[in-house]
Amino acid sequence: MLDLSENIKRVKERINKALERSGRSGDKVTLIAVTKYVSPHIIKEAANLGLRHFGENKVQEAIPKMEELPEGLYWHFIGHLQSNKVKYVLPRFYMIHSLDRFSLAKEINKRAQQKGEAVKALVQVNVAEEKSKYGLSLKETGVFIEEVTQKYPYIKIEGLMTMAPYVENPEEVRSVFRRLKDLSLSIKVGGVELKELSMGMTNDFEVAVEEGATMVRIGTAIFGDTD
Ligand SMILES: *Cc1c(COP(=O)(O)O)cnc(C)c1O
Repeated sequence: MLDLSENIKRVKERINKALERSGRSGDKVTLIAVTKYVSPHIIKEAANLGLRHFGENKVQEAIPKMEELPEGLYWHFIGHLQSNKVKYVLPRFYMIHSLDRFSLAKEINKRAQQKGEAVKALVQVNVAEEKSKYGLSLKETGVFIEEVTQKYPYIKIEGLMTMAPYVENPEEVRSVFRRLKDLSLSIKVGGVELKELSMGMTNDFEVAVEEGATMVRIGTAIFGDTD
């Protein structure tokens, strides 16, 4: 049986313990509940239990669910984003975590300008350079942020996002998180503060928090194995 309340409580405790262990007790981590494969009535229950941030990775699947849910929730777009879907994402999502190429930046900027409001985005970095994952390399990221900031005023880059390789023992991917944090500190672009680090999923979020995550994206530990 799914015990949402217990699952959420336990995830929050684990986040807090990881913050304490790493001397970040005063810091806040945004818990993004990833709701792909989760039905609206369960999401509603999670919202009633106090969760406010939710993550979806497919626009077409997210929209009908979002329409059944109350206002006042923050939706994060965490999946690969095709340029022709930007127009559906923009009015509904609070933040895009998967900005990974100029053509996408151009489209986001264009749509945001039409709306007259800048869009919050994180730049996705493929730290481990896995073939199966999207994202810029560590090397490309600084120049990318500089150029996007210069050319696309309707995109507000607030930080970086990564997905670590799946491993049995999350200690093996500690260096992935550390390199993302180091990268965020090393990039100096006027007007940009890379304050958000979206990193850590069910399998590795405690290590990610220890290495400086400010947002974790968690599905399975909250909703169980739903696929
Ligand atoms: C599915 C997904 C998650 C959550 O994964 P879990 O292992 O279920 O916690 C996080 N981030 C992204 C980008 C995802 O697609």
